[in-house]
Amino acid sequence: MATRVVIAGCGFGGIEAAYNLKRMLKDSVDITAIDKNDTFTYLPSLPDLVEGSVRERDITIQYAKLFRRIKSAFVKAEIKSVDLKGKTVVTDKGDIKYDYLIVSLGSESAYYGIKGAKQNSFEFKSLADAKELRDHVTEMFRSQKGETPNAIDDSALRITVIGGGLTGVELVTKMKDLADRLCWENDIPWGKCELVLVDHGKILHPTFSEEVGEFVDRYFQKQGIRLMLGRAVTEVQRGRVLLDDGTAIDAGTIVWCAGIKPSGVVEQAGEACLNPKYGLILNSYLQLVTDESVFSIGDCSYCKIFEAFPILTALRAGEQAEYVTENLLYEITGRHDKKVIYDPRRFPTLISLCKGMGILEFGGFWMKGRLAWWMKRYTQRIYIARFKYNVGFLEYVDEFFVSVIESWYFMRMRRR
Ligand SMILES: Cc1cc2nc3c(=O)[nH]c(=O)nc-3n(C[C@H](O)[C@H](O)[C@H](O)COP(=O)(O)OP(=O)(O)OC[C@H]3O[C@@H](n4cnc5c(N)ncnc54)[C@H](O)[C@@H]3O)c2cc1C
Repeated sequence: MATRVVIAGCGFGGIEAAYNLKRMLKDSVDITAIDKNDTFTYLPSLPDLVEGSVRERDITIQYAKLFRRIKSAFVKAEIKSVDLKGKTVVTDKGDIKYDYLIVSLGSESAYYGIKGAKQNSFEFKSLADAKELRDHVTEMFRSQKGETPNAIDDSALRITVIGGGLTGVELVTKMKDLADRLCWENDIPWGKCELVLVDHGKILHPTFSEEVGEFVDRYFQKQGIRLMLGRAVTEVQRGRVLLDDGTAIDAGTIVWCAGIKPSGVVEQAGEACLNPKYGLILNSYLQLVTDESVFSIGDCSYCKIFEAFPILTALRAGEQAEYVTENLLYEITGRHDKKVIYDPRRFPTLISLCKGMGILEFGGFWMKGRLAWWMKRYTQRIYIARFKYNVGFLEYVDEFFVSVIESWYFMRMRRR
């Protein structure tokens, strides 16, 4: 009988693991993938969806099609808990047994107990969140159409993003593009709307080098985006953000991008294998420290191999999926001595700002401009095409693209 592998959560980590497993083990493995949604969403492009430069169908893939292609079962269900002793995943559609389990349930927004934060701000973690936010902002601008400049309600057109990490930085710039368009469409003078980014840290995204951070500061000033750094949010009321220095920001749109915590499902794991802040505690083979039949990937897990807690990204989840599938292969085939110790790579930071402006930073090198912006867009296209159509040609183009960038990077390094 084929080994039963259940994949709990089909985001970046889950689908990569399923594809790799099927490629390596073919029919000797029986995969059942579970997710609460019907479609995979390419989360890094959610800010573009809000801005309106990509369509929903450009960044989503139907799970049913995706798993049919690799001859695996997909169950749309909400996972409630995992019974480790009974090797069973408990869902709202019934129990699912496994021999091996891959937990890739991702993360949720963290509100750190800040009063009103959850109730009075938009979350930005899913396709539904992005669509709701876009519709709300569009409605806020439409509601001011036809008003004389003096009668326009400035605070209704103020958009405040809380959290200056990668997501907050990208989102506020995309909202700037959206606001530009909505002002034009609704005959609203640009000066009547305002974009604000608040963060309790003194700098924006902590992995930016000082130079990149300074560039982003200047860029925000040029774009008219107000940066409020070094100020913590103490409370979020309906239409109002309160800061620890006594400032109150009235805003028709408040978005929460200030942090994440592991999926609520993993919170039920016992003390021995859970770090409440970071998620399931894994050994160096990415197995649960208390149960070697359970592997975990991505935002809901924490491998002790990291000296400091890493920035959680789709690239990291994909990388961990490769290790998990390889180690699972050795587990299933009984070649335990072959298992590979997880060795995290350094990844580049690639972000896209307002139209035509992107930043790529890697190993002391950084560049800004249209090419970086295009690379971010291209990465999304290749990723979706790879899982949607399984086309060889595009993968070759992908390889070609990566090698051109690499050679260009190394040539540049050599010239220094
Ligand atoms: C707006 C935004 C922008 C981002 N931008 C970037 C970027 O530019 N670059 C980058 O590298 N990373 C980016 N990230 C981070 C990246 O998306 C995550 O690090 C990555 O998705 C983590 O992968 P994962 O497999 O751990 O979790 P996810 O991809 O989140 O997958 C978790 C899956 O589990 C499912 N699930 C959760 N709970 C349940 C349940 N109870 N029952 C059933 N199914 C469940 C979810 O539906 C989801 O499909 C961004 C994230 C967001 C939200």
